[in-house]
Amino acid sequence: MKVLVASNIAKEAVELLKAEGMEVDVRADISEEELKEVIKDYDALIVRSKPKVTREVIERGEKLKIIGRAGVGVDNIDVDAATERGIIVVNAPGGNTVSTAELTMGLILSAARKIPQADRSVKEGKWERKKFEGLELRGKTIGIIGLGRIGFEVAKRAKSFEMRVIAYDPYISPERAKSIGVELVSFDYLIENSDIITVHVPKTKETEKMISYEEFKRMKDNVIIVNCARGGIIDEDALYDAIKSGKVYMAALDVYEKEPPDFNHPLFKLENVITTPHIGASTKEAQKSVGMIIARDIVNLYKGLPVINAVNLPSLRPEDFEYLMPYITLAEKMGKIASARLGGNFNEVKITYRGKLASKDTAYVARALLKGLLETILGANINLVSSMPIAKQRGIKIEESRIETTDSYESLLEVEVKGEKSITLAGTSFGRDDYRIIRIDRYKVDFVPRGHYIISLHEDKPGVIGRVGTLFGQYNINIAGMIVGRYGDMPGGVQLMLLLVDDPPTEEVLEKMVKLDGIIDATYIYL
Ligand code: NAD
Repeated sequence: MKVLVASNIAKEAVELLKAEGMEVDVRADISEEELKEVIKDYDALIVRSKPKVTREVIERGEKLKIIGRAGVGVDNIDVDAATERGIIVVNAPGGNTVSTAELTMGLILSAARKIPQADRSVKEGKWERKKFEGLELRGKTIGIIGLGRIGFEVAKRAKSFEMRVIAYDPYISPERAKSIGVELVSFDYLIENSDIITVHVPKTKETEKMISYEEFKRMKDNVIIVNCARGGIIDEDALYDAIKSGKVYMAALDVYEKEPPDFNHPLFKLENVITTPHIGASTKEAQKSVGMIIARDIVNLYKGLPVINAVNLPSLRPEDFEYLMPYITLAEKMGKIASARLGGNFNEVKITYRGKLASKDTAYVARALLKGLLETILGANINLVSSMPIAKQRGIKIEESRIETTDSYESLLEVEVKGEKSITLAGTSFGRDDYRIIRIDRYKVDFVPRGHYIISLHEDKPGVIGRVGTLFGQYNINIAGMIVGRYGDMPGGVQLMLLLVDDPPTEEVLEKMVKLDGIIDATYIYL
């Protein structure tokens, strides 16, 4: 196996590959043009955030079997092009967790004690001891938003500083938080009661600008703000105003809405803003760790063992692929529905494969379901291969069972997802693009989940459906389809309504819909 290392990676990783008998060429400064020329000779390619591995590079890689990204984000790799050619793309999640947590602690200390400012002052020949009176961390409340890998490590470290640690993460189990003595609290409580607020969430629609003008207004005076996650989670303009108004004691940023940032932004002119150039993962140890994670996966592939951190779907047997593909798609969409209906709150998943499906290798069906469940929570980090280990790591209990008989369908996929509330879904497939959901909870339905849907419970009484139609008409949203899934033969009780709409409804429409007489709830899902 011939490996091209097209970036600076840890020497230990290169040594490991060589020790396993691979031929390794290190060309850290290779240009994209050169890469296109030489790639045809290599079985494996390792990159960091550069160079770009475009479709053209991939198509020219006649022997290429694996691309390793020594880091997490794979935005410089055309993963779809790789998947189409059966090339596995691997990354190294978790390899830089501790380094980023340590930078966070460094920034918190820097902010509390104004270390960078004091350093500048001394180097300017000044001796301003009064000016640099700081704050002690002991006894302060730190609010961690996002108790995932990095948030968890920050929490442990904050504990050792004798801080009170509170966290907001609606998707993590209270047991995991309790295991290190962290109190899980609401977002509002965290915002209003923290002396230090640090964010460790992925950037998703939900987390973008989750800290903005309103949130700053409600914070304690002299709060310290830290962002080592992704730029834009904290609104930079709102942060500027909050610092100018005296609300924020100090802000420390490693990441920016745009990178490199616009240095003319007034934020960069403020004395009480500490900045670093996205260096959370930049330590020798993290680089060694991510390099070794990639090298081990290349060795795994070389030895015919399963790779651990693939971000794309390795090939399935063609005959199984054809049969399973609709169920993989269906499972992912069922996951999205369940996650949306349960508000992301779940800790138990039961999957039953019935009929012919029960005799197939359904690993990817289960993974797709978990991907659908976790995607809105974890964003792009989740994929078909990583979804299972991540779900387990998050303490989600997964139970799979197989029953080779069915009453009416060749195959049936049944799913039950439980949290504070629970939901069950059943679906089947009649062909590659004809996968259907046939039951939601106790309600019989029959639809191909594709498009903008609103799932709602309502009281079965005259006028309800008319009121919904009128509301959507007022907002110029066309209802393209409607299913009313009735339980039992008798009218009355609570029934399920499913609307297929041509455009996504705004928050306002949904709020108005829920207020309509007879409507109990309504969830919008793009499937
Ligand atoms: P992770 O996936 O392990 O954890 C993210 C956590 O956020 C999860 O527990 C999830 O439940 C929670 N979450 C998701 N949506 C939420 C919401 N709306 N409200 C509250 N919590 C929510 O990720 P990680 O490895 O800990 O990384 C955290 C962040 O740090 C990511 O944005 C990542 O890109 C960033 N990061 C930055 C650097 C750097 O160099 N500065 C290095 C590595 C990672």
